[in-house]
Amino acid sequence: MTTPAKIQPIKEIIPGIYQIQLELADERLTRLLHVNSYLVQGTDGWLLIDPGWNSPATQQMLETALKSLSLKLTDISTIVITHCHPDHFGLAGRIKQLSPKTRMLIHRWEADLIESRYIRFNEFKEKMNALLISHGVPSVTVDTLGSASMPALEFVIVSLPDQMLYGGEMISTGKFDLEVIWTPGHSPGHICLYEARNQLLFSGDHVLPTISPNISYHVLSGDNPLGDYIYALDKIDHLPIKQVHPGHESSFNDLQGRVQVILDHHNLREKEIVATMSSGPSSCYEIASKLTWNMHGLTWDHFPPMQKRLAITETIAHVEHLRWNGKIRKTYVDGGFRYNLV
Ligand SMILES: [Zn+2]
Repeated sequence: MTTPAKIQPIKEIIPGIYQIQLELADERLTRLLHVNSYLVQGTDGWLLIDPGWNSPATQQMLETALKSLSLKLTDISTIVITHCHPDHFGLAGRIKQLSPKTRMLIHRWEADLIESRYIRFNEFKEKMNALLISHGVPSVTVDTLGSASMPALEFVIVSLPDQMLYGGEMISTGKFDLEVIWTPGHSPGHICLYEARNQLLFSGDHVLPTISPNISYHVLSGDNPLGDYIYALDKIDHLPIKQVHPGHESSFNDLQGRVQVILDHHNLREKEIVATMSSGPSSCYEIASKLTWNMHGLTWDHFPPMQKRLAITETIAHVEHLRWNGKIRKTYVDGGFRYNLV
């Protein structure tokens, strides 16, 4: 299944649970067309999974969808955030301003990221620049790449959680029970929500139907985010699941098949990386510049800054995963890290 050309404002998944598609339109930050938000009925208010990002258009789309069910923002008693990227989390603060009784729940590791990404962002940018330089990014371009995520700030009204999640909890709306499954990788505190009675998985960006989620090594990631991600795929692919409802694109059924395709993709990528390293020690910047990327025919030098940064941090995640598996050695030399095959 591919992303529909037209977004679907609201669709009933099963009685009492709805998918709301909210448009994303900002080429500086994302090539995705929409984010999926989910509305789950409760006995005392509704639960909203991922409200989308903060823009007047998104808020309008969400309110229009709610209105079609005779609901208002104040009918949302609980917001659960799968992860704190702007396209999933940004509007939560606005909803809380307009509906002060609404409670927001997020994994504790994402709560830490809210502060560093959206409040102390200058410190984050400095650390990001230092990390990029240590992985071979030329100093003339580092500031452009380090600042590439700054436009994201426009799309977030910062709000800190009312309740932190740890993974393993059951969130009950009175009508539905959602199990919190901690699935680090795309973000360190990413969670999926599992509704066992109807065998539904709300997968956030952990598993998408056609896109392989970006797994990046950066100043706020774990030491081996790709290893975390593969471990977290294993946590969900044995569950009895009839429908997967992702954070982007369309809902799908065959979770195990999709997980296998993603694992195959990562294996192929690692082989490609190993092949580029045969000529001797390399920085991750050099490795990334030699890999194949799906960038609509643009050459490496012409990648948009955000896409180039993601390509580099994704490459570091792969290389570090290989290193954790004992296939690569890392050396600090001349002010940066160089990697070579063992
Ligand atoms: Zn996303």
